[in-house]
Order: sequence, then structure tokens, then C-alpha cells
Amino acid sequence: MRPIDLASRSGVALRRAFQTQQLCQAAGSRQYSNITSLPPTYEKLHSKYTEVRRVLGAQRLTLAEKILYSHLDNAEESLLNNTNNGRDIRGKANLKLKPDRVNMQDASAQMALLQFMSCNLPQTAIPASIHCDHLIVGSKGADDDLQAGIQTNHEVFDFLESAAKKYGLDFWAPGAGIIHQTVLENYAIPGLMMLGTDSHSPNAGGLSTITIGVGGADAVEALVGAPWELKAPKVLGVRLTGKLSNWASPKDLILHLAGLLTVRGGTGYIVEYSGPGVETLSCTGMATICNMGAEIGATTSIFPYTEASARYLEATRREQAVKNAAAFQNFPGAGASEDAYFRFKADEGAQYDELIEIDLSKLEPHINGPHTPDLSTPLSQFKSTVQEQKWPEKLSAGLIGSCTNSSYEDMTRVESIVRAAEEAGLKPKADFYVTPGSEQIRATLERDGTLQTFEKAGGIVLSNACGPCIGQWKRQDGVEKGTVNAILTSYNRNFRGRNDGNLDTMNFLASPEIVTAMAYAGSTTFNPVTDSLTTPDGKEFKFPAPHGLEGPKTPFDIGKDVFKVASQPPNPNEKVAISPTSERLALLEPFEPFPNSDLSGLKVLVKVSGKCTTDTISAAGPWLKYKGHLPNISANTLNTAVNAETGEVNVAYDLDGSKHTIPELAKLWKERNQPWLVVAEHNYGEGSAREHAALQPRYLGARIIVCKSFARIHETNLKKQGVVPLTLANEQDYDKIAAGDEVATVGLYDMLQNGGKGEVQLKVTKKGTGEEFLVPVKHQVSKDQAGFILAGSALNLLSKSASV
Ligand code: SF4
Repeated sequence: MRPIDLASRSGVALRRAFQTQQLCQAAGSRQYSNITSLPPTYEKLHSKYTEVRRVLGAQRLTLAEKILYSHLDNAEESLLNNTNNGRDIRGKANLKLKPDRVNMQDASAQMALLQFMSCNLPQTAIPASIHCDHLIVGSKGADDDLQAGIQTNHEVFDFLESAAKKYGLDFWAPGAGIIHQTVLENYAIPGLMMLGTDSHSPNAGGLSTITIGVGGADAVEALVGAPWELKAPKVLGVRLTGKLSNWASPKDLILHLAGLLTVRGGTGYIVEYSGPGVETLSCTGMATICNMGAEIGATTSIFPYTEASARYLEATRREQAVKNAAAFQNFPGAGASEDAYFRFKADEGAQYDELIEIDLSKLEPHINGPHTPDLSTPLSQFKSTVQEQKWPEKLSAGLIGSCTNSSYEDMTRVESIVRAAEEAGLKPKADFYVTPGSEQIRATLERDGTLQTFEKAGGIVLSNACGPCIGQWKRQDGVEKGTVNAILTSYNRNFRGRNDGNLDTMNFLASPEIVTAMAYAGSTTFNPVTDSLTTPDGKEFKFPAPHGLEGPKTPFDIGKDVFKVASQPPNPNEKVAISPTSERLALLEPFEPFPNSDLSGLKVLVKVSGKCTTDTISAAGPWLKYKGHLPNISANTLNTAVNAETGEVNVAYDLDGSKHTIPELAKLWKERNQPWLVVAEHNYGEGSAREHAALQPRYLGARIIVCKSFARIHETNLKKQGVVPLTLANEQDYDKIAAGDEVATVGLYDMLQNGGKGEVQLKVTKKGTGEEFLVPVKHQVSKDQAGFILAGSALNLLSKSASV
């Protein structure tokens, strides 16, 4: 890995900024009292940060805390309430945050914008962008695929573009790039806080931002300027020492960490990296690590600002941002102590809730999978594991790139081994696909000859879009659904069916270099570090260890004009394009408010047993296309749930005994104005934070969900949509309630009126016998959430306050 050559570019200011910064850090901050003003974003951040220091006194803070707390609407209120006077914030405080911007991908942006539209505001309160990346199918290659994708999805793209024009949002057309790569290249600036309507939004933590993946309803809160609430996360520290070498790459660090922590290990935590090893990583390498932090369930991940971060900012033509960051870090404001300075790193002595140490020098490549990103195997043991587990030894395809791993460094490291193989006369034995993360990276790789190297080797370059990473992959190799087969990808997620819809495709995650070398072998048991291939003339060929450039020698090429961002002021005359006959988009009708009394006359639609994930409640796959059409997507509601009384999947019985699918019966009851509830077991709503899993039941007439326990995010989502989540005080009461029983609430209305304070019970009347009994239930309704429920939804409340 070689650093970008500063001397060959306009790096004078950058070098000076860093020299200044280093001097400052060595000699103390006093000599920078001549910095008297900051650009507006940092001015605001500094003033908020000063307030946080005032509230918390001498408390040592991690970098994540500095940035997060400096985005509080009211630092004193959030940090001192229920926190032992600020000593016990993590895991306790309710942070009410004001993010700097919102980034949305095309699938999730639809519902976010439909919700925003119902607030009737002329523009968003903070900047936002839309990225058309999820809906393009990868198949034959970039040009054909893009054209086909635009044709199939033009209605959705037209809607998104017209909404961008009306409300003044940045619009990145299909083919411009994948959301996280585009955000890193254009919007990420150290110290910002962003929300992204996608789980891998933390990618931007590689450039020292706090970026959190959220659902559309959360995004709307930020878009209308309301504070966005988050339980203060704990902080998991990862201290890095040493330096990566040979085949080991940043991807291997996160693959290894996922193995250590599992898919739930980061839940409720921000992962913060520190230590001397950080200085050895490229900015894009740090982004890869933060991106895949989503696979351990972390709220987000973050790295300190380093020289590599500054080099990346400059390579992406943001020299001013480098100067601003240096000025900001050296700005004392009115303070005199070291704490007056906002440094993009943790305070000396800051405590982590947990600390993991990793020596990068000892890290070897890892391969994770199949079917879960935390099943991690060191490369040296992979062959024996494949044989023991009887996983396929034939590798069907190698896919590199995506938002996770398509940096200049990744691609030039791959290029080095492809060139070596090409010179030896070798071609990949497995299909080999390359997905550039953005037009900027694609154009730069084309300019510098890297893509041509891949194409010469037989690689297919797909469009700058998600494609095979999100199931948008039309395979050309004849592998049918139901056929067990192995693929290797440098993506981040590998749940069953995610790539090609085939539950029997095993996706193993690895670095782009390992994926590529194994694609040449066409084998999952090949170890490029130790094994050789035979060339066409019978010689032994061993791959050299990969090497590449951290960034291009001259700044990135911005690529074709057609893919440039459309940035515009809001235009109130723009008509948002939604056809009344559309099958893919439908305007939202506000949900009715809570009645001025307790709920009565509810019926149990179905009692479900076992796991009931957000996927069970609102399936993805072919339903993705209806994300902007609530009535149409609601036809999948609970369609893989198990009926606890009969063991049947997706079956519910009407009061007269007639048999229906669950969504059919829900629709019938909606038409009859029959409100309903679902009874369920543990961890209801686990899985991805899919807001449709709350919206759809609400749309179809659900008023409460009663279960043994909830997944936290889904419980919050339900309240935002005006559905009351209640847990059984005595789990055995689950057995007493059945489908068709009538339920009324006792104390619910008073509890809501009292801002979430008070006891609630359910009065159950058995179907058939008319027997009545009371069931005590628990709730976690806060004052704000009581307001959402009473208003009918958070959106109703937001639009009311927005119109005042
Ligand atoms: Fe999500 Fe994959 Fe697209 Fe990245 S490339 S945004 S992980 S679907």
C-alpha cells in the first residue's frame, strides 16, 4: 500500500494544515488562539460542544460521545435526566438529537418522502439526498442493465426526482452510485451527524462522522426539524496496534470482529476504533470496517480523523474541508483548557464499556459464511472447514465491489493480482463480476486502466448500483433455484436468498483480493497464500501478495455528466409525480387519532407462535417493488407467520369459521371496520428495522400487539405508527387468549393521557363461552410516545406541529 503522493497534487495547503495540527498537538493548543472564526457547520458544532463540556465538567469523552452529544437539541435536558447527574449517561439517557443531514436510498426513500409529503411543508428543515441504487438488476453489464432498470422502475425514479425538485433535495440518478460510497465521496465531513435510511449508513464513520441507519419515520422526524430520539448507546472500544501485511486487508478486521462478537454483539453500542494501528489504515479501509459494523448490530461505528482521512478529502476535491477540519480542531472558542478544543479523537483517559485489542500485524484473511456474516473462518482453516462441513468445493462466482469494498485501494490491489495471473496466461474459472460503488470510482478506475484489466480477464463490470448485493441479480450461469452452490463476494451481508433469491446459494464474504484469487481457482478450497495454480503451459503459478494505491495519483475523475448530482432549491410549483392508478406508489392517508376513551370491541386476528421477525410481518424479495404503495404491500402482512392454534402458516379463521390467509382476513376486517390485535410470543419484530412491519398492520386495522416480549426497535416503530405494544405481565396468559376473542383495554386511555404513566389491563371475553377475565400487561410508553399514539401516529403529531 502506498500513500497518495501529496507533492504531485495541490497538497500544499493540506501539508501545511497537518504540520500546523501536529505542532499544535505537540506544543499545546494556546498558540492557535489566532484562529478566530469557523465555517457555519463547525461554528454550530463548537458552540454545542462547549455546552456539553459545561454540562459534563471534566468527564472524559470518547469521540463518538463528543460528536453525538454535540448534536443534542438541549444538552442539559438530555444528559442530566435519569443519569445520576450526568455520571451514568450510556444506556440510560434519552438523547434528543438534531442531525445535520439525511441520506436516502431509492427503496426506503419512497415511504420516507410519502410520509414527509403528508406534513405539507414547502421544504426539508435540513439538507437531504436521494440515491437511486437498489432497483437496478445486475445481469449482462452496466449499460444494458441500467437501461433495463430505468425502464422497469421509471415510475419510482420519476417520483423521487420530482419530490427532490419540489423539496430541494439532492438527486443522484440511477447509475450515479451506491448511497454509502456517494455519501463518503461527497457529504461526509468529520464531526457531522447524519441519518441514512439504510442499515449500512455507518460507512461514513470512516471519515469520523456519526451516521446511523434508520427507517423512514425517523428520517421524517429529522426532515421536519423535530429532534430525533436515541437511547444513549454504550461505547465498545477497539484498540488497533500493528499494521496489516500481505493478504490481510481492512475487510479482514471486520470479518474477524464479526466472528468474535456475533450478529448481536454490538447491539446498543457504538464501536469506536483507536490506537496506533488506526494511523496505518486508509480512509476507505476505515469506511469498509464501519460499513460492516452493521453486521454486529452496532448502532454505528467511528474512526478518529487521521492523515489518511485528510488525503481522501483532498483526493475527492474537498481541500477546503481539510482546512476547515484543521481550523476546527485548533479553535479554542472562549475556552482556555485543552477541553475547549474539539479534537476528532477520544479524550485521553476516556473509558469504554468494553475494550477489544487487535494486533493488525497478526491478522490473517478471513472468510465468513455461509448464510450469516458472523460465521468466521481464518483462511488457513477454510479448506478443511469446507471439507468437514461438506460445503461445495466448486466456486460458481466471485463478485467484488459494492458499497463495502469498491475503493481505489481495493480495486488496485485486485488489479495487481489479476495482472500477475494474466501474464501467466490464466483466466478466472468462476464467473467474475465487478460492481463499482459510484460513477466517480468507476470513471477513475477506467481512466487509470484498472477496469480494462478486469474486462480483459473476462470480468463483467456491472452498473454503479447495488445489484447482486440486494437480490437484484439475474444469474447467467444457469444455476437454478434449489441448487446448492457457493459464491464468494466482497459484500457485507449473506443471509439466505439475499443475492439471487436461491435459498441454497451459499455466499461467503471475503476481501476483494481473496474473492478474485479464488475465482481464478474456481474452488472454495484454494488458499492463494499457500497454494499454486497450473498455467496453460504447465508451470506452477503462485499469486504475489496484493499491492495497490490508497488513492489515485491525481484527484478522482467525476465521470459522466449524466450521473452528476442534481442539486436544486425547492420549487413549490413542482408537481410530485404519482399516478392515481399506480401500482407502486400511493399517497398516504393519515391514520385516525386514538378515541377519547379506552379501546373496546377489538378481536384477536391471529395468535402466532415462534419467531415473528420483521420479515415475517412484512416480507422483502418480490414485495420490494411495493414499498411506496401501502395498500399493495399490505397484502404480505404476516404471510409467513405460524398460527399457534393450528400450526398452519399464513392461515387465519374468521368469526364464522371460514378460512383465509392472514392478510386476507385483516383486509376483510378493515373493510368491516373491525379493529384487531395480534397475540405473539418472544422478541416480536426482531430483524431489520423495517417500518413497513409497523405501518402495514396499522393500515389494516391493528390497534394493539400483545406478546411475551418485543424487539426494541420494532416496539418503537409500532408506537410511531399509533399501534400500542403491550407485553404480558404473566407469560402463561398467552395460553388463555385465542383467535376471535374480544378484547377491551382498561387504563390505557388514562395512561396515555398521563404521558405514559399508569397501569394497563386487558379485559378478554372468550369467543363462544362469553367468559370474561382480566389480563395484566406492561408497557414502555414514554411521554412523547403517548403523544404519538393519541395523535394516531408520530407523523400526525409532526404535521400538526409543523403547520403551527
Ligand atoms: Fe445495501 Fe448492498 Fe446496496 Fe450496500 S450495495 S447499500 S449493502 S444493498
